[in-house]
Amino acid sequence: DEDPRIHGIKTKIRVVPNFPKPGIMFQDITTLLLDPKAFKDTIDLFVERYKGKNISVVADRFSFCPSKIDKGTFKGIEARGFIFGPPIALAIGAKFVPLRKPKKLPGDVIFEEYTLEYGKDRLEMHVGAVELGERALVVDDLIATGGTLCAAMNLLERVGAEVVECACLIELPDLQGRERLNGKPLYVLVEYQ
Ligand code: AMP
Repeated sequence: DEDPRIHGIKTKIRVVPNFPKPGIMFQDITTLLLDPKAFKDTIDLFVERYKGKNISVVADRFSFCPSKIDKGTFKGIEARGFIFGPPIALAIGAKFVPLRKPKKLPGDVIFEEYTLEYGKDRLEMHVGAVELGERALVVDDLIATGGTLCAAMNLLERVGAEVVECACLIELPDLQGRERLNGKPLYVLVEYQ
């Protein structure tokens, strides 16, 4: 039985074919953010699932959004921002830990490399942000090949955190990203076939 709020969330995600390159069905969540009810329902669904579960860390990454800027010329990749992690962290009383692209964090970092559906990159995390034995939730907007979530999990586990679950708004099940999570549970609100 699907929560009735999920249908509303699905209708607000815009699918843009062939963006940023041919063959990619780009899942645009900016249209979801324009609808305060659907945006709040999204956060609430995650909060209802994780509240009271003794989670002290919510980690989220600076996700990528290829965008057209500069008078319509294609300018490659731009940050989409930490959208879902911080409100979930606040609501469940957990700390928020940003996972970022190289050279953005000022302190000492550890890093993991990963491949995207369209490109390659690296995630960094501040040393000391997470302590041994902390229970962590890894949040992302979308799981495609699973490479990003896998890198995020590795960062947390390398510093001795226990990753309780990964949570995503959207899953592209055809890409079988779940298989790359080494059996770690993945919770998603919306599947895109
Ligand atoms: P992956 O590491 O392959 O699971 O890719 C995860 C990240 O790549 C997501 O968090 C998105 O930011 C981005 N991404 C990959 N494929 C898509 C897509 N079809 N639509 C929107 N974002 C995507």
